[in-house]
Amino acid sequence: MLDGRKLAGEIFEEIRTRVSARVAEGKPAPALATVLVGDDRASDVYVRSKQKNAKQVGIDARDHRLPASITTDELVELVSSLNADASVSGVLIQQPVPPQIDMTRVIAALDPVKDVDGFHPVNAGMVALGLAGAVEPCTPAGIVELLEHAGVSISGAEAVVVGRSNLVGKPAALLLLKRHATVTICHTRTRELAAHTRRADILVAAAGKVGLITREMVKPGAAVVDVAANWVGGKQVGDLGPGVEEVAGWLTPNPGGVGPMTRAMLIRNTFNAEVRRRP
Ligand code: NAP
Repeated sequence: MLDGRKLAGEIFEEIRTRVSARVAEGKPAPALATVLVGDDRASDVYVRSKQKNAKQVGIDARDHRLPASITTDELVELVSSLNADASVSGVLIQQPVPPQIDMTRVIAALDPVKDVDGFHPVNAGMVALGLAGAVEPCTPAGIVELLEHAGVSISGAEAVVVGRSNLVGKPAALLLLKRHATVTICHTRTRELAAHTRRADILVAAAGKVGLITREMVKPGAAVVDVAANWVGGKQVGDLGPGVEEVAGWLTPNPGGVGPMTRAMLIRNTFNAEVRRRP
């Protein structure tokens, strides 16, 4: 079992200790500003959990809520004010945002040092170039941390990522490539998805399609990471069909796998952002 909840708990504890050590030295506690536009229920739950995790480790959490009718300019204005606020270490803008918002402009307006999601083109570019010091996006970083912690061998492994979004699939593939996996990225135009997934020593399912990955599509003994958060009858389920657990060598529970690791990486990125500004 790739137990994300347990590993995330250990990471929160480590950050809590490091935050209190800084505070004991007279340094300010890091601060995370979360921005939520509109009243999407799932987004509200995600933001609340991130705020709770921040507070739990001694990071100050600032909650910014804006009406769904806000314009791109108004959101950019808030981002600029958070950039200029010396007491803010990191800024998280919860996605998705309402359709009239141009997220490319909003993210470009964010100070890359405060981009704790790792979505700014500077950070994404550094990840693509494999440069040290990039802020790695939280979900892909959490996936890799979970695999490494479990002792899954990434170097030389065949890794197949199903999904190519800028938030999850593409950066997950890049982080696996950086660790010397041989990576294939699949998407909706991929012919014979199963032919690819069956080769995978590491299979990352990030399509958001219930039951997409059937038991027959998984190589026996593979490490299977179920990223998706699909909502069925009020319950979170991933992309895996029944029986995958019988063939996989390692498997993330869902929920309790990638979700907690995503939040742990956000908290770590926020701490690191503060340390980078005020060593
Ligand atoms: P997204 O932007 O909708 O991207 C989904 C990707 O999957 C796309 O690249 C799409 O291909 C591909 N895809 C969809 N159906 C497919 C199919 N039948 N066969 C092959 N590829 C298929 O979603 P996302 O933001 O990457 O998120 C992916 C999933 O992860 C969602 O369920 C999301 O809720 C979840 N998620 C979880 C966490 C967490 O912390 N656990 C964090 C972020 C996201 P095309 O590009 O060709 O359309």
